[in-house]
Order: sequence, then structure tokens, then C-alpha cells
Amino acid sequence: MTMTAIITGANRGIGHEVARQLAERGFQVWVAARNSDSGNMAAEKLRKDGLKAAFLQLDVCDPSSIRNAFTRFIGEQDRLDVLVNNAGILLDESRNILELDRGDILSTIETNTLGPLLVVQTFAPVLHEGSRVINVSSGAGEICGGMSTYAPVYSISKTALNAVTCQLAHALHRNQVAVNAVCPGWVRTDMGGSGAHRSVAKGAETIVWLATGAPASETGKFWRDKRVISW
Ligand code: NAP
Repeated sequence: MTMTAIITGANRGIGHEVARQLAERGFQVWVAARNSDSGNMAAEKLRKDGLKAAFLQLDVCDPSSIRNAFTRFIGEQDRLDVLVNNAGILLDESRNILELDRGDILSTIETNTLGPLLVVQTFAPVLHEGSRVINVSSGAGEICGGMSTYAPVYSISKTALNAVTCQLAHALHRNQVAVNAVCPGWVRTDMGGSGAHRSVAKGAETIVWLATGAPASETGKFWRDKRVISW
């Protein structure tokens, strides 16, 4: 049976690379993106390489878009093996927490924290024993480790995403669905910038491993480079 994966924010960056790597492993991938033009183009690019990819319109900040994506998905598939909550924004890289704009605070938390939670809530009916949910977090949210003054609300949103990960891991444990958070490292994308140390292939590596190769019993943890790191 063909395995299925949904990756949010898969039109570019790490999300697109994760979609490619999973498709190369035989998955039918759903390239979820908020923008139809770039989402369709990204799915088409994978299909041109002989991979199984379809576009799924999904804005993680828009509950009706998430519901419509679910309706579209269940029209074609009845089970979801892998869900990668990758979509994210970084608006406050060089800002001071004391001067943060309320709108930026809300949109960062809505995209990076609430969005992944709503996506899992909506798609939970098609998750099954052995499904894997991967939340793409960041070392910036590592409250016991590296937190500094860097990107305050982005960092807070990722700390909260880690808490969402723990909650979901417990809530879905009885269904034997694994839920993990992962830091991809500093990656050369629009968000990471050209000076970042890692390629998108390296950034996608542990996400794809959690989706495919990690023991299914691993859940409720935070990972980087296939190792557990502190919250
Ligand atoms: P990126 O190149 O900026 O791509 C971000 C993706 O998220 C784009 O596809 C974007 O879509 C999508 N997105 C943003 N808001 C969305 C929404 N409301 N609904 C649906 N999609 C939305 O970033 P990236 O570097 O690939 O980052 C991917 C993930 O890795 C993020 O969660 C990020 O926090 C995390 N991360 C990245 C790094 C790094 O160094 N790059 C380090 C640690 C963690 P549009 O094209 O429509 O904007």
C-alpha cells in the first residue's frame, strides 16, 4: 500500500525538500501550501521528476482552509501516515521583546503554534496506529538550553509548539500515533538566509528519519540530528 504524507509549507524551503525526500521513498505526498500558484508549481516540479505529488491548498492560519483541505484529502484517501507541520514564519529576528508589535506577536503564534495544533485536530480522524506527526520546531525555542534575546516571539512560539507536541503525544498515545518535535538546524532557505551552515537536504534529514526510520515507539521528544535534545 502506498504511504501518504502531508507537509505544510511545502512550496519552498525545508518543507519542499521533505516532500521530495518522502516522495523519493515512495510516498504519495500532498504538497500543502497557502498559495495555489506556488503550491501547484511545487507539486508539478515533483511530478516532472516521476514522483507522486498533489497540491493541497492549506493556510495554517485559516480554519476553513484547514477544514477544506481535510475534505479534499478524505475524498481521495482514507488514511494519513505522516503529517509534517513545517509551515512557519520569523518576523522578529532582530527585535527586542519590549518593543514587539501586538500584530506580529499574534500572527507568529497563530502560524507557528496554533496552526500546527489545528491541523492535527482536523486530520486526527485519518491518523491511525503507526502514523507519525512531526512538528518542525527550532533550537531557538529550547527553553532549557539556548534561549537568548534572539527572535523573542518566534522563540516563544516554538517553545509553545514543543508543549503542543508533548500534549499531542500523550493525547494520541493510545492510538499509537507518534508525535515529535524537531530542530532542523540552521538551514539555507529564505528564512535561514544564505549564510546558514546547512543545505535543505541536511535540514530535512532528521524530519524524514522521524517520518520513516525512527523507532515507532519514539514519541513526545525533541530531536536534532537524530538525537534527543533538551526542551
Ligand atoms: P521558509 O523558506 O521561509 O518557508 C516557510 C514556509 O512556510 C513557506 O512555504 C511558507 O509559505 C510557509 N508558510 C508560512 N505561513 C504559512 C501559512 N499561514 N500557511 C501555510 N504555509 C505557510 O522557511 P524554512 O527555513 O523552510 O522553515 C521551515 C520550518 O523550519 C519553519 O517552521 C521554521 O521555523 C523551521 N526552522 C527553520 C530554520 C532555518 O534555519 N531555516 C531553523 C530552525 C527552524 P509561503 O511561500 O506562502 O510564504
